[in-house]
Amino acid sequence: MIQKIKGTMDIFPDEAVLFRYLEGVMREEAEKYGFGEIRTPTFEWTDLFVRGVGDTTDVVQKEMYTFADRDEERTITLRPEGTASVARALIESGKCGDAMPQKFYYIINCFRHEKPQAGRSREFFQFGTEMFGSENPAADATAIAVAAAVLRRIGLKSVRLHLNSIGCKECRPQYRAALLSHFSAHKDRLCDTCLDRMEKNPLRLLDCKNPPCAEVAKEAPRTIDHLCPACEAHFKTLCATLEKMGISYVVDPSIVRGLDYYTRTVFEFVAEGIGAQSTVCGGGRYDGLVASLGGPELPGIGFGMGITRVILAMKAEGVEIPVAPAPKLYIAALGEAAAIEAMAITERLRREGQYVECDVVGRSLKAQMKYANKLNAAYTLILGDSEVESGRAQLRNMQDGTQTEVTLADFTLPA
Ligand code: ATP
Ligand code: MG
Repeated sequence: MIQKIKGTMDIFPDEAVLFRYLEGVMREEAEKYGFGEIRTPTFEWTDLFVRGVGDTTDVVQKEMYTFADRDEERTITLRPEGTASVARALIESGKCGDAMPQKFYYIINCFRHEKPQAGRSREFFQFGTEMFGSENPAADATAIAVAAAVLRRIGLKSVRLHLNSIGCKECRPQYRAALLSHFSAHKDRLCDTCLDRMEKNPLRLLDCKNPPCAEVAKEAPRTIDHLCPACEAHFKTLCATLEKMGISYVVDPSIVRGLDYYTRTVFEFVAEGIGAQSTVCGGGRYDGLVASLGGPELPGIGFGMGITRVILAMKAEGVEIPVAPAPKLYIAALGEAAAIEAMAITERLRREGQYVECDVVGRSLKAQMKYANKLNAAYTLILGDSEVESGRAQLRNMQDGTQTEVTLADFTLPA
């Protein structure tokens, strides 16, 4: 027996209903905010993610699914996230010269070689948006508002927006120096990865989940205390805008995001009380990304929302969860002529747009009725020889038990 690969999942209809419901909400909200759907390839040249996500990140260093193509020397990688591909597509299409902003959304599968656990899988599903061409805090507020709108509409109450600014290339050097002097003083408490980060990407020191490192990180200087005047003004305007828009947040200096290309605004939506994988959405501004991929200087802002994490949060909160639709009618049949008639009526009603079921297994009448109950059919119709002969039968309302006589040739179901 061949089993599925570790960290992947099979999604059966009862769970797929939930995914489809969420995807529907995500599409509707994104489109309401003016984002259009973009579809990019599942795999790209490895270099795109090395440059776009950053070679000091865990994603690039440890988590990518990379393989040699059959007839090419360059390697290929299954996308670990969505932003780099969208930026590449934008540059490649020549749309960087079009009217700004350009707003895209996507619902994609992503691949990361991580330790599988609740809310963390190797193939996972992400809803994301990207907006290019605006440095204005209104763009940041728009991105945040889309994510907030989705979470609000789903009915999640325990999710909080954590907001921070990590500055730009103007303020970064000064902040980096302050950070390094703090961590240097506590070198003995840091893990090997963090010691390595001190050399390569000090900002990521703030992101370590190792408890002693996290302790040191807690007392570290905060990016928001070291912003240049332009970054500070940007952050202040964003905060004021969100307040006026009725989007509540907490300023959280510990949010730095794992990916290299972030500048200024970074944010996470965190579900209280669902355990370790509580970040349902993470995003931020990536003003350097497009240029670093060979495009023009074009600012951008976006987020990725983990669909399975949203589902975990919904279940933890007991939010009402949609169930698979039940058939409007189940037609039970006794005997061959009735079985054929049942197929004919079922087909007629299905063509009219109704969800109708009948027996295709050849079960006894009793077993058919039991199955109709299991499916939770709203109405049932029992066909035997006499019903087929007279062209009439009793339509039974399963909710209240009432029966109405209907003519088989042309009856319609109540709406
Ligand atoms: P984490 O800190 O949880 O590893 P991340 O910083 O790696 O998250 P991003 O790259 O920002 O996450 O991805 C955006 C969102 O995608 C996350 O907030 C999360 O909801 C979801 N996500 C990321 N990795 C996984 C995964 N392996 N399985 C399921 N969802 C994931
Ligand atoms: Mg991660």
